[in-house]
Amino acid sequence: MPICIICSCEKPDGIFILSEFICDSCEDEMVHTDVMDEKYMFFIHQLKTNLILKNA
Ligand SMILES: [Zn+2]
Repeated sequence: MPICIICSCEKPDGIFILSEFICDSCEDEMVHTDVMDEKYMFFIHQLKTNLILKNA
């Protein structure tokens, strides 16, 4: 099973963005998270950290 880059859990369902996996529940949460929400910043941080570091 792929490992989600947001929650670091192995999940059977989700999407791949730039070869990185995001599970269904995290993707759903991201879609419904307000931009001003602290959780949104956490998502962006996780995405940047994982995508930029791995693709640098
Ligand atoms: Zn996840």
